Parts: sequence; C-alpha cells; structure tokens
Amino acid sequence: METESLREKFAALGHTGAAEPEEADLVVVNTCSVTEKADRDCIAFLRKTAAANPKAALAVTGCLATLDPRKILAAAPGATIFTNKEKEEIPASFCGGPATPGDFFSVAKSHGRARAFVKVQDGCNLKCAYCLVNLARSELRSKPLDSAADEIKKLIASGFAEIVLCGTRLGIYRCKTTGASLAGLMKRLFAIEGGFRLRFSSIESGELTPELLRVLKGAGPKFCDYFHLPLQAGSDAVLKAMGRLYTTADYRTKVGELRSIFPGVGIYADIIAGYPEETEEDFNAAVEFVRGCALSGLHVFSFSARPGTRAAALKPLPQKTVSARSAALRALDGELRAAYAASMLGKKTSVLVLKNKDGRAQALASNFVNIELPGPLKPGRLLDCRVTAARSGVCLAEAL
Ligand code: SF4
Repeated sequence: METESLREKFAALGHTGAAEPEEADLVVVNTCSVTEKADRDCIAFLRKTAAANPKAALAVTGCLATLDPRKILAAAPGATIFTNKEKEEIPASFCGGPATPGDFFSVAKSHGRARAFVKVQDGCNLKCAYCLVNLARSELRSKPLDSAADEIKKLIASGFAEIVLCGTRLGIYRCKTTGASLAGLMKRLFAIEGGFRLRFSSIESGELTPELLRVLKGAGPKFCDYFHLPLQAGSDAVLKAMGRLYTTADYRTKVGELRSIFPGVGIYADIIAGYPEETEEDFNAAVEFVRGCALSGLHVFSFSARPGTRAAALKPLPQKTVSARSAALRALDGELRAAYAASMLGKKTSVLVLKNKDGRAQALASNFVNIELPGPLKPGRLLDCRVTAARSGVCLAEAL
C-alpha cells in the first residue's frame, strides 16, 4: 500500500505511471528485506532495471535500502537512496511540490484490486532474534484516527467492500491525538455506513485484548471471521530462543477463546521452518501442536539468517533439514486447509468476488477460504452463498 500511496502522490503532482520500467523517466523501487531471498530478488531487479533504462532516474527505498544502502549502490550506482523515514519525500524530491514528511502513507484508491489495503501502524519495538524490523523500522507510528477513518470512508464510498487493515504490529496501534487504541479505531470504523467488511492482516495473539474482542464481536459481519496470529514456532524452547513473548499454552488458550467467541472462525498462522536451535523433538512437538490447535492454514517460511540479527550468529541447521521441515509443514498446511474447507460444506458464507476465470467467479470467504461460484460475477461485489462441495482447500458454492 505504500507503493499505491506513492503512485497517488505522483499523480497529484501531474505524473502518470508508465506501463513498464523501460518506459519510465523515474523508477521508484520499494525494497524488502524479510528474507535473504528477498534481498537477492531486490538486487537482481535493480540491476535489471538500471540496465534496461539507464536514462531513468532511480529512487530506492524500503527496508533493504535502509539497512544496507551500500548493497543497493553496488548494484545501481546512480540510485538515490531514501530510508524508510524519508520515503514520503520521494515525490517532492523529484517533481517539486510540497514535501510531506511525517505524513503517514494514505491511499484513496487501491489500483487493480478487489480489496483495499490500508496501513494504520508502522514499526515494532520487540526484538525477535530472527527479525530485522526492529533495526529497519524501530520507530512506532500510527495513522491518526480521523485520517484513518476518512481514508477508509473514501475507499468504501468508491466501491471497496473489503478493507484490510495492516501494520507491522497492528495490535499496538495508538492514535497520538486521541489516545485511541486499536479497539477505539475499530469502533469508529464499524460506525461507517455501508455494506463493507474489515479484516486484520495479522495481529499478535497477545494483543487481542478483551476490549478489542468485544468491539470485533459487536461488529457482526462487518468484521471478517478471520484471524492471522503469528506463531513462528510450536515448541516452548524455540519460542523462548526466538525471544517471542508467549508460550504454546498462551497461544492455545487464545485460539480457544477466539473459537468460543467466533464459532467456526478461520485461524491462520505464520511458522518458521528450520530455526537454528530447533531439535527434531522440537519440530515434532510443533507439528503436534499445530494439529492440536486445528489451525485453518499455515504460512510457512524457511529460515534464512538475516545479517545483524541474533539468530544469524547461531549455527544453522543443514539445508536439507530446513527443506525437509519446510516441506512437511507445507504438506500440513494443505491438510489443514482441506479439512477447514470441508468443514464448510452446506454452510452459508459471505464472499467477496475477486475475479473471473473460465466463466467461473473466484471469491474469498470472510474466513479466508477460496470459493468458486458460477460466473461471471462483478469483481468487488459482496454476496452470500452456500457451499456445495470442497476440493483440496477450495469450496464450490452457489449464490443465494
Ligand atoms: S514482533 Fe514481528 S516485527 Fe516485531 S520484532 Fe518480532 S517478528 Fe519482528
């Protein structure tokens, strides 16, 4: 959504986006540094872009540019670097016009998507052993309540029926002006009129406070039946080594609490495969734990050491162990998604149409299960349907 926001700021200054980097006068690259592979991909993209269009000015920002500008300049010597803090100054630096430092990224439209993503929080002050975020984005910032509400109201008025609220650590949202927490923000957003639903991209399980859960429950269908709770490891020993602030028991309790408040809710998790200190016993415990929680699906990341983190100083597991654990967790993810989709058979659900393919509409249920319906149907439309079949984690349904 930062990229969308930059695009809008350039448009406001009278510029239009080029179809390809080769046709642009200015190329802005927003880099990621979440894994070593992400670093490599960014560098390869920069080299390719700089070679394909040497006449274009090149602005590089994002986490990799903030953490390792030398790496960027080695790949693209003519690039101008903007750290994450300076990102908002890019349009004014190249096109003139008012600089907007401190202006939290906002997006009035979300280009080419059925769902809109709105970032309301940035930064994290925790120090998980494998994570670079606390080095690249340690400053905590939250979008003021009024700006967030105005922006989302505009998105809804322009036709978006699902808004995904994002943040590096959404649960610590705090409006500086009003002191509102995430619960306060949600209360305000749910009061907006119209047929729409809100979803959290991801939230730490410990940050789902009783007050927040009360507000979410009170919103009914305006809040998606969905939580993405980062787990990262399924054994207490590895959670502790990672510096995570919860135990498996805490996580299991939160999952149970969510299911008692939101029956049938989709609960998904991130998990890291092959963390350096994870023994075979830890890994088996993790698989058992995930099965025991009957999660709805996993996002599996293979561990790769990020230079500068505590985990990078640990002896890595052999690559074949990392790959085998990653494959086992991905297979488990397939099983979980299939079981969760099957549990929806005969049930009514609300879906958002994403696109059409081969005469069928592809949609996303409130609980994040992929749904196929007879189509074509208008993308971006919310509708109720009943699930008639489930195959490999995808449900077939008919509109009601
Ligand atoms: S909570 Fe998330 S963003 Fe913060 S340090 Fe841990 S992994 Fe990184």
